[in-house]
Parts: sequence; C-alpha cells; structure tokens
Amino acid sequence: MGRFFLNKMTPGAYGVKRLMSTTLVLLGRFRPKAGIPVLTYHSVDDSRSVISVSPTEFRAHMEYLKRSGYHTISLRELVECLHTDARAGHKKTVVLTFDDGFKNNYTEAFPVLRHHGFTATIFLPTDYIGGTCTWDKDKSIPELPLLSWEDIQEMSDRGIDFGSHGCSHAHLTRLPRIQLRTELLKSKCTIEARLDKPVAFFCHPYGETSHVTQQAAKECGYLGAFGSLDFGFAYNRDDVYDLKRVGTAHFSSLCDFKAGLLGTYEWYVKIKRLFFASLGRLEMRYKQ
Ligand SMILES: [Zn+2]
Repeated sequence: MGRFFLNKMTPGAYGVKRLMSTTLVLLGRFRPKAGIPVLTYHSVDDSRSVISVSPTEFRAHMEYLKRSGYHTISLRELVECLHTDARAGHKKTVVLTFDDGFKNNYTEAFPVLRHHGFTATIFLPTDYIGGTCTWDKDKSIPELPLLSWEDIQEMSDRGIDFGSHGCSHAHLTRLPRIQLRTELLKSKCTIEARLDKPVAFFCHPYGETSHVTQQAAKECGYLGAFGSLDFGFAYNRDDVYDLKRVGTAHFSSLCDFKAGLLGTYEWYVKIKRLFFASLGRLEMRYKQ
C-alpha cells in the first residue's frame, strides 16, 4: 500500500520523505551489502495504482541501473550465487522480476529491457493468460489486459524467463493439499509445454506463503520460490523457497529507488510497518 499512502502525502511530508531518502542513499554508500536485490514490478502503467510503476519511472529505473554499472542475472544464476556465496563475478548485480504477467510488461517494459540488454523473469497465473486481471476485487487496481501466449513466446525467444504464479492466482495457504499441488504442478507443466523450457521458480500470489506451500513447491520440482511480502535482499544464508524481494511500488522517487538498491530503504519500510502496526493496535484497543 506504499504508493497509495505516498500519493496522499502533502508537499511538506513529501519534502521530508525526500530528505530521508537522500540520507538513506548516503548511508547506503558507506554500508555496502553482501546480498543481492531482487526487484519486484507488477504493472507498468500510468494508473498510479498500488501495483503500478509508470513507464517513465520504469525507464528512469533501468537507465539508472545501466548508468551505474549494474548487470542483471537470471534467477538460476541468483540461486547459484546464493549457494556459492559469490556475486556472479560482479559487484553490482540485480535481478528483475514481474508478477502477474500484465500486457504492459510486453508493450512498455520489454523494449526498455532489450534496449539495455537486461534479462528478467515474469511470473504467470496460467488460467488468466490472454485475459485480464479479474482475480482481484480490490477496486484500487484497474482491470488491465494480460500477456497472450504469442507475447510470452516472443519474449521467451529473446531472453526473458517465465516462472509460475499458480493457475488461478489463489490464496495458496487456504487451499487443501491436493489443490495446492495442482496449482503448483499444473501451472508449471502448462508453461513448460508451451515454451518447451523448464520452469524453475514459483511466486506465491498475494505474498501468502507458509512452510507447507514452500515444501510443496520444493516437492513439485521448483528450484526456488518467492512469497513473503518482507522487503529485503536475497542472502546466501536464506531459504531459497522463501526469498525476499525489493518491491518497487514502495518508491515515490528515483532517490527511493537508489536507497532500495543500496539496502537502506528497507529500514524505512520496517519503521513504517511498525508505525502502522502500532496504530492498528491502538485502534483495536480504542474499539474494545
Ligand atoms: Zn499476483
């Protein structure tokens, strides 16, 4: 909900946030992190919804990565790095991921990725391919078109990887075991059959994950999984079936993005969550 909150900020509050981000960038430069940032994008559009980054912002992010000497690695390379405690021979390493398979990943993001020679992984909810994102009744998210199999094939042929986001974008932690395994296996097999390539990574819808779903992902042949909404880098000590990412919809400026890449923006996210959790507890106490 970060962006939604930030959109309602007054100019004064925005200025304070900007000053804080600048401080986080300065602190981050003195405190290089050992982990690797896995950036999460969803929709690249101008709706300013909670899951959107505008095409202009996305271009600015990618240009900054290029200009700063970052190089992208695939999720397979990420897991190898985590197992071997290496950074693929490069200090400035980043992983790009997109959830939900929005059509604008092809029309807006893909040309920019190609221009910079970047790779990425897109997580697909297979039942919805070629349709629209009707799984979510959240009115703050517009009903946007999703990728077709033709778009997916073309991007796959040109170096973009595809992972599974389940079949029906279900709340996996609420499903019986048999349905959970169907979501994990059927989606994997569907993408593999269409692209004739192995699908090795899974992303839990809604960030809802548990030991049961992570174990099931492992048993279904995935090499790793994302799910937790926790904001953070991937580290070599991490469980590869519960990897954290850096959600770009939290950012309201390029300065935030820079702090996100340096690993200091997560301090702000943690403090903000603690603040809202305390507000929630106070509200509950007041109601009782
Ligand atoms: Zn999703």
